[in-house]
Amino acid sequence: MITILSGGTGTPKLLQGIIRLIPPEDVTVVVNTLENSYFSGVYVAADLDTVMYTLTGKINQDTWYGIEDDTFITHETLKEIGCKELLKIGDQDRAVKIQKTLLLEKYPLSKAVDIQRKKMGIKSKIIPMSDQDPHIEIITPEGSLEFHQFLIGRSSKPDVLDIKYDEIDPAPELIESIEDADMVIIGPSNPITSIGPILSANGVIDALINSYVIAISPLIGYQPFSGPAGKFMQAMGHEVSSWGVATIYQDFLDKFYIDREDFNQKKKIEKLISEVVVTNTNMKNIEDKEMLARSILGEIL
Ligand code: GDP
Repeated sequence: MITILSGGTGTPKLLQGIIRLIPPEDVTVVVNTLENSYFSGVYVAADLDTVMYTLTGKINQDTWYGIEDDTFITHETLKEIGCKELLKIGDQDRAVKIQKTLLLEKYPLSKAVDIQRKKMGIKSKIIPMSDQDPHIEIITPEGSLEFHQFLIGRSSKPDVLDIKYDEIDPAPELIESIEDADMVIIGPSNPITSIGPILSANGVIDALINSYVIAISPLIGYQPFSGPAGKFMQAMGHEVSSWGVATIYQDFLDKFYIDREDFNQKKKIEKLISEVVVTNTNMKNIEDKEMLARSILGEIL
């Protein structure tokens, strides 16, 4: 059994490699929910849906958001009749989001997601980090912005001075999924806004300290592969480097994977983490993903 902590881009890429090597029922994915909110009347849990679509093979791999070859008739119609539509949600994707919104009238998020993943034929367990509503503020010189306002409304452009989010309780089974795993994998996801919130859930760090934990750096050569991780790390006072990521995870990490380009940081990182593996972490195609997954899972395959 392995448990993977995930955001919505880097880790799902690795997940594609992992499920080629081990049965999906042996995999549990714990997913960030910090960005969840209502848009145009539907509940949007972007990272959860990305993980679900990754596991059904339907994910749009150009954007790591929504369903491949989806249509946008509802989106265009809503815009035509004056709806603001901050997010461009596809028709099939919206159907999934409508179902989740309806399920949330009766159930907590973890139960709603469990019902959805079973209906989609997904054998891996998917656990949202919490059933509580998230609250995140990105503090910029323009004032405090919500996550999507910053990311989409302002295209991640403003300087970031600080990031604040509330402490939350973990969803049912989350702590057990870490405690019972043969290996916990912290995927190459944003350490501040994807993994950070999961780590901040009560009891998660203690469970990780008592487990075998490996992580993959989401950075290469002093910058992220994609997205605002660098900006967010800087705002929180961390060096934007794989070493900087290691300083965030050092209290509970047993093994850290960094890219070949970051070989020069290996010795410095070894002062924090006992085992550091240098390999290709740039997942451009399915072969890269499987190769990285094989290297990580090696000991339990
Ligand atoms: P978000 O929810 O969309 O922010 O997605 P994540 O937090 O899961 O992923 C974003 C992080 O994934 C960024 O920091 C990227 O640098 C990292 N990332 C994206 N592609 C790759 C890749 O091929 N390899 C590695 N190592 N990291 C990647």
